[in-house]
Amino acid sequence: MESRKNVLIVTDGVEATQKMAAGIAKALKGAKIVSIAAPDFGGQDILPAEVYFLGCEKPNPASFAYLSEVLRHINLAGRPCGVFSPQSEEAIAYLSDMAHDSDVALYAKPLFEKDIERVKSWTDQVIHKGQGFNLDDYIGKVPDFPKPGILFYDITTILTSPEAFDHCLNSMVELYEDQGIEAVAAIEARGFLFAAPFADRMGIPLVLIRKKGKLPGKKLSARYDLEYGEGEIEVHVDDIPSGKRVLLMDDIIATGGTLRATHDLLTGAGAIVPEIFGIVGLPFLNYEKKLHGIPIRTLIQYHGE
Ligand code: AMP
Repeated sequence: MESRKNVLIVTDGVEATQKMAAGIAKALKGAKIVSIAAPDFGGQDILPAEVYFLGCEKPNPASFAYLSEVLRHINLAGRPCGVFSPQSEEAIAYLSDMAHDSDVALYAKPLFEKDIERVKSWTDQVIHKGQGFNLDDYIGKVPDFPKPGILFYDITTILTSPEAFDHCLNSMVELYEDQGIEAVAAIEARGFLFAAPFADRMGIPLVLIRKKGKLPGKKLSARYDLEYGEGEIEVHVDDIPSGKRVLLMDDIIATGGTLRATHDLLTGAGAIVPEIFGIVGLPFLNYEKKLHGIPIRTLIQYHGE
């Protein structure tokens, strides 16, 4: 994303921190890394950025002295700031203290795949907030629907806002236009709402994954468990683009059960599913576990109810 060029990662010179910084920069495509390793810091150009990440290995007085020097060049007040450390909770505490009047996100310990997703999602959210657009404002949270104990994330408000709907579609095209995606498969019913205009914008076929009993032709089917209940999906055999790269999509990724079943159905029939996309991700329902090994991207994530 263009806006990710406005991310500045400031690190100490320790290899483990540098590795984490490289992981963040890679995920954010184009984020700039400034290492403040003692000998070369003097000459570094500290650019103003929209989002900062500060990282260091452990509470090392030399690193912190340099970090303080960097912070003298940057006014962090009110700016979003992720702080990270490959191994030290103490360093995280110290860094978040340094960034105390910012919007702070914490990333401790080695950066796992799911943490990279969180870094991306957090960065996107704060950047969009900074630009006056926050997707979260367009997602309703309805407690005890459709059953007691379930917090339902309602995306109908995205659809009734042309600005929010356009934001989603633009973001989706931006994410996938260079990924060699040859078709999109979407899950009934809300997945269709985003996948259909996406397919049109991308100029690729749309494959419908429907609930049992809706498709008239020769089909394949799969059963799966849901966050609340059980289901069965079907797809027309002739619609599956064998050997092609198919992006699999739904509105919300909750337990990942539907997507796992669909993924296995499509790949079992010869399609390649390089990635799964959802507008909303609910990682606290552990979809990473069910979708293990499949790259997942979402526009916004919620980390707890
Ligand atoms: P999953 O558990 O990932 O298989 O979710 C299946 C479908 O149920 C998704 O397409 C979502 O649209 C829907 N869903 C599951 N949990 C929620 C939730 N908490 N809020 C809104 N929709 C949900």
